[in-house]
Amino acid sequence: MIGLKKIGVLTSGGDAPGMNPAIRAVVRKAIFHELEVYGVYGGYTGLISGNIKKLELGSVGDIIHRGGTILHSARCLEFKTKEGQQQGIEQLKAHGIEGLVVIGGDGSYRGAKALTEQGFPCVGVPGTIDNDIPGTEFTIGFDTALNTVIDAIDKIRDTATSHERTFIIEVMGRDAGDLALWAGLSGGAETILIPEEKYDMNEIATRLRKGHERGKKHSIIVVAEGVCSGVEFGKKLEEATNFDTRVSVLGHIQRGGSPTAFDRVLASRLGARAVELLLEGKGGRAVGIEQNRLVDYDIIEALGRRHTLDLDIYKLSQELSI
Ligand code: ADP
Repeated sequence: MIGLKKIGVLTSGGDAPGMNPAIRAVVRKAIFHELEVYGVYGGYTGLISGNIKKLELGSVGDIIHRGGTILHSARCLEFKTKEGQQQGIEQLKAHGIEGLVVIGGDGSYRGAKALTEQGFPCVGVPGTIDNDIPGTEFTIGFDTALNTVIDAIDKIRDTATSHERTFIIEVMGRDAGDLALWAGLSGGAETILIPEEKYDMNEIATRLRKGHERGKKHSIIVVAEGVCSGVEFGKKLEEATNFDTRVSVLGHIQRGGSPTAFDRVLASRLGARAVELLLEGKGGRAVGIEQNRLVDYDIIEALGRRHTLDLDIYKLSQELSI
């Protein structure tokens, strides 16, 4: 935007490791281009109430390796209303802010879309462990969460071997199976249940029995939360097989931790690109990565699309776990 002087940045919705390096990139890239940057604290709740403070180079020092978000996050029902959104725009204008970077998941994108439709330019940066945002192969936080899950699977495998048990591991991901699929493949799970594909209990039971017959002492089954709870699946599996099963629900540990190098690089690239777009006068966009190249697309159109999981990886996981 010609003459752009002040931008804002906020994090919203479920937090994800890598949000901090993304904030750092936005702030430093903006200051590099002689812009002023304002942090909106507490997502859209902070936007409505005007919890907005100027950020300096030092404000984002020593955060590149930290999980969570220094700007905090929130879920804000009020922002789904026109009045809430108008209040947000008034707060931005009162601070002289002319463009906003929104780091978050698809719900946060809907908020950014609403602001854009009302004439306030926003750029969306995909930050969620779920990897469920259309228009990007990877979201910030997915790789870190994946590594957390693998670490847990490796540990569970040790005890599963000692006790000859079948372990069911429930992982996050909301309606997307990406986290379960990638974790299952890299953790060597025998079975992976994802919401994108129906499962057949008879087939799973047969496979477990066959494994048992050829001397396999333990099994790891990864269940995406979008399929059902691990406990629910465990009950059904016990009924079908009589095998001794244990369930581990990994829960919120998946959302924390120091971001991996991959997530830090991704966050740095996407955060910086979001600032470039605002400088180019392109509001209403969302940034992403496709085949290791930065891309941007219309945020309004993107939300009409659906994220698709790579079914080739699912097929491969089945072939490798016979
Ligand atoms: P995520 O961004 O991780 O998907 P949510 O779905 O909870 O998380 O969305 C985060 C916030 O975005 C919500 O609490 C709300 O303030 C805002 N939001 C979600 N949907 C809309 C919408 N349709 N219009 C405006 N704001 C929305």
